[in-house]
Amino acid sequence: MYDVMIIGGGPAGSTLGRKLSKEGYKVLLIEKHVFPRYKACGGGITRRCYKLLDVDISECIEDVTYEIIFRFPNDKTTALQTDKPIIYQVDRVKFDKYLIDMAAYYGCEIHDGETFYDFYEHDKGLVVVTDKGEYETRVLVGADGINSNMAHKASLINGKKGIALEGEVYVDNSLIDGLKGKVVVDFNAIKYGYGWVFPKGDRLSIGVGTFLNKVSDIKEMFSKMIEENVDGNIKDCKIYGHQLSFPDGSNGTFNNDKIILIGDATRLADPFTGEGIYNALLTADISFDVIKKHFNGKCGLDEYTLRLNREVVPDIRWAYRLAQFTYNNMDFIEKSVRYFPNVLSYFVDIMMGDNTYMNFKLKVPMYALRIMSSKTKIKVEKNVP
Ligand SMILES: Cc1cc2nc3c(=O)[nH]c(=O)nc-3n(C[C@H](O)[C@H](O)[C@H](O)COP(=O)(O)OP(=O)(O)OC[C@H]3O[C@@H](n4cnc5c(N)ncnc54)[C@H](O)[C@@H]3O)c2cc1C
Repeated sequence: MYDVMIIGGGPAGSTLGRKLSKEGYKVLLIEKHVFPRYKACGGGITRRCYKLLDVDISECIEDVTYEIIFRFPNDKTTALQTDKPIIYQVDRVKFDKYLIDMAAYYGCEIHDGETFYDFYEHDKGLVVVTDKGEYETRVLVGADGINSNMAHKASLINGKKGIALEGEVYVDNSLIDGLKGKVVVDFNAIKYGYGWVFPKGDRLSIGVGTFLNKVSDIKEMFSKMIEENVDGNIKDCKIYGHQLSFPDGSNGTFNNDKIILIGDATRLADPFTGEGIYNALLTADISFDVIKKHFNGKCGLDEYTLRLNREVVPDIRWAYRLAQFTYNNMDFIEKSVRYFPNVLSYFVDIMMGDNTYMNFKLKVPMYALRIMSSKTKIKVEKNVP
């Protein structure tokens, strides 16, 4: 019998697999794709997320971002420059493979190319059914992403979903080089969301994502984003569609007596930016603590839901309110940034892990009026090309 079985080998599953195996637990991770596998993602690791990583990911970093160019309505642009890295650009193929290899290195058994189907109760544990066999486990973890079959089977479905289209766009090196150190965030690209351009080693990640769950013209928005940013200069483009989690910050239920959900399976990505890897790692860390305590007889798995509702969900609630306000009042946001550029320091502090979304209504004016300033030095330039 396994101590823990994990379904899904994204950042959440592989991180938990590594941590538990390192502590000597017998862990099996099941992943339906064969590694290396692609995952639709911008691959932006914010500084706050980078700080959570307790492994050295330097071999996966393709660019380091010091400048964010925001495009607002009415063709207004603002560039935000930071004196410390704000985002690390990774290739998800390499990043996810690296994390899974680290899990295997510490003794986690990995079955890739195997799909989870179902589970049933048996003796003191669960029997997990896959397309290749049946396994017994004491605890089962669903790290199988936003459309988690595990959440469905365990009746633990939580928050809402949005939608995104992402292109891996191969262009001339000169275009990629011109964007090195920078990213573009375009609020004109799509309603209730944004478009992005993230430079990677040999290509650009260009996409549009919206927190609305249905946008009939998303393909046109995506094509326009590509046209505007690469001007027909494409050698190759691979396009991927995927859902985004868009939680509203309501308390949820993320476990039962033998099952825990982590990562996107909880649907707890950041509803302001769509950043999901940070909470994937955070929920993996919290589940690791709870599972260890559970095996030592110090708590039941319900401790996990209590901790997420106490430590993760409240900040999401404020991020959701900020998202509602921002995406419904883009003209006002543009003017605020124009007249009170220091307001961007608040955003920088969150991305850096130096502040949270909690009470943004109080904090935003304090930053705008320079009563509070970011820990990171910033420079704001208006009307950049
Ligand atoms: C277009 C797009 C852009 C994004 N950009 C960013 C970004 O720049 N930065 C950021 O932080 N976040 C971003 N995100 C969010 C981020 O991709 C996710 O939050 C993150 O991947 C969640 O990690 P995870 O490990 O929970 O799940 P995933 O990475 O989704 O991994 C889940 C794994 O489970 C496997 N699986 C699913 N079902 C089964 C099954 N039945 N049996 C076995 N295996 C199964 C899947 O194959 C997959 O490998 C983006 C999302 C999208 C859609």
